[in-house]
Amino acid sequence: MSEYLNEENNTFRDNISTVNKEGKRIWVHARKPKGKLYNYRNIFGYFLLAFLFLAPILKINGEQLILIDILDRRFVFFGIIFWPQDFYLFYLIMLAIIVFIIVFTVVYGRLFCGWACPQTIFMELVFRKIEWLIDGNHTEQRKLKAQRLNLSKIWKRTLKHSIFWIISFLISNLFLAYLVGTKILIHIITDPVSEHLSGFVSIVLFASVFYFIFAWFREQVCTIMCPYGRLQGVLLDSNSIIVAYDYKRGEPRGAARKKEIEAGIVKGDCIDCKLCVQVCPTSIDIRNGNQLECINCTACIDACNSVMKKQKKPLGLIRYASLKGIQDGQKFKLTTRNVAYTIFLIFILVFTTSLFINRGSIETVILRTPGMDYQEQPNNEISNLYNFKIVNKSNEDISLEIKLLEPKGHIVVSGETLLKYSSKTEGIIVVYLNKNDVKEKKSKLKFGIYHKDKLLEQYETNFAYK
Ligand code: SF4
Ligand code: SF4
Repeated sequence: MSEYLNEENNTFRDNISTVNKEGKRIWVHARKPKGKLYNYRNIFGYFLLAFLFLAPILKINGEQLILIDILDRRFVFFGIIFWPQDFYLFYLIMLAIIVFIIVFTVVYGRLFCGWACPQTIFMELVFRKIEWLIDGNHTEQRKLKAQRLNLSKIWKRTLKHSIFWIISFLISNLFLAYLVGTKILIHIITDPVSEHLSGFVSIVLFASVFYFIFAWFREQVCTIMCPYGRLQGVLLDSNSIIVAYDYKRGEPRGAARKKEIEAGIVKGDCIDCKLCVQVCPTSIDIRNGNQLECINCTACIDACNSVMKKQKKPLGLIRYASLKGIQDGQKFKLTTRNVAYTIFLIFILVFTTSLFINRGSIETVILRTPGMDYQEQPNNEISNLYNFKIVNKSNEDISLEIKLLEPKGHIVVSGETLLKYSSKTEGIIVVYLNKNDVKEKKSKLKFGIYHKDKLLEQYETNFAYK
């Protein structure tokens, strides 16, 4: 890419920035970012956090906004219930989401990680802020860590970890509200522990895992564990838009000394203040080029912009750009490829939304009763026996009426006629046809399922004779 990124300068790629040569963890004491993007990130992050906490409480059509009840195979998205019968739709939507993420990453890089991933939002906008509040800024934190145990350190550590544990406990409850539903969660919390031992153990277990992640494991989730992070290597190319350092403008780095100026040595715009490294939550130096550890949080952009402002130099030495754009000295611009991929992303969104919208309110299955032959009936009629199963996938009760649409004939239905919302019913239909109207061994039957004279669904099956 550039002479400054030669073999010698690429040795940083041989190890993780948070692990030293002896394999020991290098603790990240990130400097608090300041700037326009950080402010936007705060607003966006807190909005997402509010949504995350409200989604299991808010209700649409009597259902909580989002429920992912894997054990009972019941999924609710924005009040729409997904039944096991809808799993084809669920898989299609999952597939569409995966394609969406891949295409989004190819074009816009790892923006999701830095701005929308719950791990980053909790870590950077909740836990890290509490740490700054209790332990002080990055230098004070370093000093505190190096200090021997004393009253002040014990107090700070106890306070911080107690708050961390309480928040982890809250997150654990939130997590369970998505998995089992808010109603059951309230029972687990309010009933005696002995009545919901497994639920109580799950809350404590999840709380411990969250506490471990946010108090200790932290950025390691993004740098060594997250599969999406590991995929970056194959998803990104030189046209992907990422947080990038403009090495053409910045190099050779370092503040120009008087002697160097006199000697006519020209320096780049990077004064090597390392502010961009200090604010980085994964402790990398973005000036080394694109790295797997970069979560695109944009903190280094803010940091460098503040330096450029003071230096009275143009902003954007570190900016959101493609590597090709940096190489060609271009400002941020959407290429034809990016526009085409964006149109494709919109198409995926429209496609999944239309799948949601066009999903029927009921699911019907009508099959001939196994082992039953046709029956001769009085008045020159023959009959066939059918079993039906109807699932109400809507959010309202249905007054069920089954009619025979084709051919001419009549039916007798036995079974529940009021189908409660989110429930299913089963029953029997006897279909009577005049012998003269049945010309084939297997002729087509068409049923209509109605609610208050409104046709909800049509179902076709066969009528057997001879
Ligand atoms: S390099 Fe910049 S954008 Fe990437 S993680 Fe570090 S601070 Fe965030
Ligand atoms: S903040 Fe900007 S000027 Fe300072 S070291 Fe980083 S890139 Fe160079």
